[in-house]
Amino acid sequence: MYEDGYVDLQQLDGEDEQSDSADSPIRCLSYSSGRYRNGAVGLCNIGGMCCLNPLLQTLYMYKEFTDTLCRIGVPGDDVPPEKRLPYELLSLFEEMQDSQEDAVPPYRLLRCLQMLKVTLVARIDVVEVFSSFWDHLIRDVPNPDLEEELRSLYNISLEEHVTCQRCRHQSSAHRDLLSLPLRVSRYKYHKTSSLERALSRYFLCQDLDEEENFCSKCGNNTRASKVTNLRSLPRTLTFHLRRLCKKKREKINSTVTFPPELDLQEVLSPRHLPPDQQPEVSWDDVKCTYGNTAFHWGATAVLLIYVPSARSCD
Ligand SMILES: [Zn+2]
Repeated sequence: MYEDGYVDLQQLDGEDEQSDSADSPIRCLSYSSGRYRNGAVGLCNIGGMCCLNPLLQTLYMYKEFTDTLCRIGVPGDDVPPEKRLPYELLSLFEEMQDSQEDAVPPYRLLRCLQMLKVTLVARIDVVEVFSSFWDHLIRDVPNPDLEEELRSLYNISLEEHVTCQRCRHQSSAHRDLLSLPLRVSRYKYHKTSSLERALSRYFLCQDLDEEENFCSKCGNNTRASKVTNLRSLPRTLTFHLRRLCKKKREKINSTVTFPPELDLQEVLSPRHLPPDQQPEVSWDDVKCTYGNTAFHWGATAVLLIYVPSARSCD
């Protein structure tokens, strides 16, 4: 293991041959047969990659995701190592369920990410890791139908309407996101904000500076206003609390509260909502995932993932 968190490839060659079991059948994860309550042991924390393990555990705990992933089958001999991320992820999940240890090291998955040049070091925002990980994962799913099903679990579809403030020309565009980026304000005197307020603010009419907008009718950069609406909601709604101030390379530690259940109809006006909005999540599930209550959740959480309760794990 190097200081930047990368793994020595030669050191892992032996492990690769040992656990690359092409004959083992693919099965759905049971979530009940493992050593612990959630059906799996933990993941060893390998230095410098603290944001990867929570992501992997979140994906593991989403049964609809793992049920879909399990259907990829076994990789053929013609699948090169750098195209095996979906298979390595599933293999790791199975190892987490079967292991008699307290935790398993995700070495094989890390080796795959290393080949894909996915940067995992601590200074990278968890959302960048999630986005890069997800793009590679989706790209290497061999079946287009499975790829689409996996996309539908997380993809947030938006429509953006931009009005030029000089000529009033209107343009519209569709945009797909893995997570909704919400601003976290720097409050003095520990004043708190909330997820609902940040979400509501995202969908307010925004002013765009000249460098942010090019008007095709004016043929120039112009000031504009932008309104964003939801076209469709995914089954898993992910919010990115933007705590990393990239200009100053520092983290914003303002407290942001978030509710156990999120009713978008209470937060957003009907014109921002898609017609087929789904119900939201159980607070017990959230508390389950947080563990140590001594941590100040609201001041540290970066990624909030809401899953409809009707589809949550058994
Ligand atoms: Zn214009």
